[in-house]
Amino acid sequence: MSGESETRTSRAPRRTPGGARRVRPADILATIRRFWGFDRLRPLQFEAIRAGIERRDSLVVMPTGGGKSLCYQVPPVVVGRCDIVVSPLISLMKDQVDGLRACGYPAAALHSGLPPGEATRVEQDWLAGRLALLFVAPERLLTPRFVQLLARRSAGAFVVDEAHCISHWGHDFRPEYRKLGQLRAWFPHASIHAFTATATQRVREDIVRQLRLRDPTLLVGRFDRPNLVYRVVRQRERDTQVLEIVRRHRNEAVIIYCISRKETEELAAFLKSSGIRAACYHAGLPPEQRRRIQDAFSRERLDVIVATVAFGMGIDRSDVRCVIHASMPKSIEHYQQETGRAGRDGLEAECVLLYSPADVPRWEYLIERSAENAEQPEQVTRNMLDLLVQMQRYCEAVRCRHKLLSEYFGQAYQAPTCGACDVCLREHEPVPEATIVAQKILSCVARVGERFGIRHIVQVLRGARSEAILRHGHDKLSTYSLLSECTERDLDSFIRQLLGQGLLDRTRDEYPVLKLNAASWEVLRGQRPVRLWQPRRAPARPTPQDQKAWQGVDRGLFERLRALRRRWADQAGVPPFVLFSDATLREIARVRPTSPDRLRRIRGIGERKLEDYGRELLECIRAYCIERDLPSDLEADSPSPPAPRPGPLPPEARRRFERGETIEQVARALGRARSTVVGYLACYLQTHPAAPLEHWVDPETIERVRWAAERVGTERLRPIYELLGRAVPYDEIRLVVARLSTEADEQRTCDADAGVSDRDQPG
Ligand code: ADP
Ligand code: ZN
Repeated sequence: MSGESETRTSRAPRRTPGGARRVRPADILATIRRFWGFDRLRPLQFEAIRAGIERRDSLVVMPTGGGKSLCYQVPPVVVGRCDIVVSPLISLMKDQVDGLRACGYPAAALHSGLPPGEATRVEQDWLAGRLALLFVAPERLLTPRFVQLLARRSAGAFVVDEAHCISHWGHDFRPEYRKLGQLRAWFPHASIHAFTATATQRVREDIVRQLRLRDPTLLVGRFDRPNLVYRVVRQRERDTQVLEIVRRHRNEAVIIYCISRKETEELAAFLKSSGIRAACYHAGLPPEQRRRIQDAFSRERLDVIVATVAFGMGIDRSDVRCVIHASMPKSIEHYQQETGRAGRDGLEAECVLLYSPADVPRWEYLIERSAENAEQPEQVTRNMLDLLVQMQRYCEAVRCRHKLLSEYFGQAYQAPTCGACDVCLREHEPVPEATIVAQKILSCVARVGERFGIRHIVQVLRGARSEAILRHGHDKLSTYSLLSECTERDLDSFIRQLLGQGLLDRTRDEYPVLKLNAASWEVLRGQRPVRLWQPRRAPARPTPQDQKAWQGVDRGLFERLRALRRRWADQAGVPPFVLFSDATLREIARVRPTSPDRLRRIRGIGERKLEDYGRELLECIRAYCIERDLPSDLEADSPSPPAPRPGPLPPEARRRFERGETIEQVARALGRARSTVVGYLACYLQTHPAAPLEHWVDPETIERVRWAAERVGTERLRPIYELLGRAVPYDEIRLVVARLSTEADEQRTCDADAGVSDRDQPG
């Protein structure tokens, strides 16, 4: 299922000349430059915008923060038409409209929260064609008044944002979304474009069916969020652990999720007593208070929200730098949804899950209780318990989190290491002599007759004198006290790792007991080595993401700019993040531009913002640089290596490539480093146009790199790497670029043959 759309459409524009209305990438780029100050599109944005402009129905599935809004904001201003956006929450609409207006973009919203007279004004603007986008709540859309409005001036397209709300299978079903099924019948000439971040196939099919989309262009993005650092940490003293993490994010936005309302209250109180600007948030609070808390968080008057899952949907704050799960969530879907609120601006953010096995029975109890009222309680319970087991496996595994999450959502993850999870950052270390430790554990399971659970085995191995141990005479066993040097938590974790690796089984009933399997016996007979992991004792180090995101940024200036942004936001009565993203402020604090011309080159500074805030920004920067004697007007991007020219190609390597050997095989055979062999292969691909690139790089990756290269060129590899969200390793980019340069050479040769150009002919 992954990325089918990329391969289907990415090269189409060049190959299909003519057609209804050809989208000129240059027009799109000029538009995003003018309003948003962006200089390039992200993966799939171009395709989604094209569907919008050509008014072909579409379903766009992109992770949170992927940049869905831009996809429907661009078409109406490029084409000069008026579109309708259906959005589920007033707060979301308001933030979007505020953000668009600050860019000088003509947008408005119709909802029940408008001051008197405002709705009429908005309607007049619509009728006069002064709006490119009009946001409405679903319940308003098919009212007689609204339909009349559209009869007098029709909409070019309807955009359904958060489209999963239409599906029962989604996590946010909204009955009022069901009415949208009638859009097609009422407005047969308008195209419909659905957007969602929900990944499951079932929800997707439901959206297409319910909205009656006509042969929709399906665009499915990558679910991996490379800017998020995932960590799973064993819960010890929850409050202290949470405080320690929150302190790593001083003055930054943090969301903490708990299972129960009571926990949110207690944890928030504890954080407040420790001097943190925190509040709790759950469905039991009066609506007025909830609104106040959301608002304070949006406006940066509150740093930390401790919430149940009730919190999030209306939260658009893009600079959430950390999401903490104080307990395990009940499914990976929930986990993805909740961590998705971190780092929506694309900058680094941390997601820490404090895991305790005791969370599992708590959820089991809650799931069984909540299913009592369902239509098919047994079925529902079973499904939910299955999801819970998957979540627990995720927590107990010591494998790359990015890879596990991608694979859970059906997408392969190729990079050998993500560099952004507790596992790849080597925050776990191998347990010395793990095989012997495993053998001790397994033989203890055997000695107690495979009739006891984890807790009992842990106690026997540690040499505890519990009542049960004495009663069963387990203090007489040869395995009694055999691992007394380990802590209870360590042993518990080792046993769970053995379970996770399939080296041990556990019954699934009310009192689960540990059972040996064939693999256990292989370990016991010494036929199978075992690897176990324990947390490294060293404190958390800054991640590569972290270092990169702050590279060259003057933090003092960044904070000053933030204060300035807060002031402007207060004056305008909007949340700060709708004016400038953190990414923009950091780039300013890195480059430190002192002229309007340099400022204009910063990503996120469009024409209107330059006009409205440029002067004050420049004054602030100049003053700061003089005060600190800092250099200004630096380069935006730190330099990256140019795309490598092909090196030499030893005949032996060429012969092996011709036989189709892998990079690893050739490296081994020639006794060379992998990187050297990648260089040889690049050369081979460049000089042998008929060699099958697909043999070394999978076709989907090839398409993705091509896609990126078309946008940012092949002069340097780094922009391609960045555009692809750092998800494709440099080696693969290098190989595809080598092939692309062959094609470019061919192209040039053809042009030269046809007499188009003879200057460019390769020498
Ligand atoms: P989503 O709706 O998919 O969660 P948004 O539309 O809110 O994501 O976009 C997330 C962030 O990315 C916003 O801050 C937005 O301004 C920014 N963004 C979107 N497209 C681009 C782009 N092409 N270049 C730079 N920033 C972008
Ligand atoms: Zn990883």
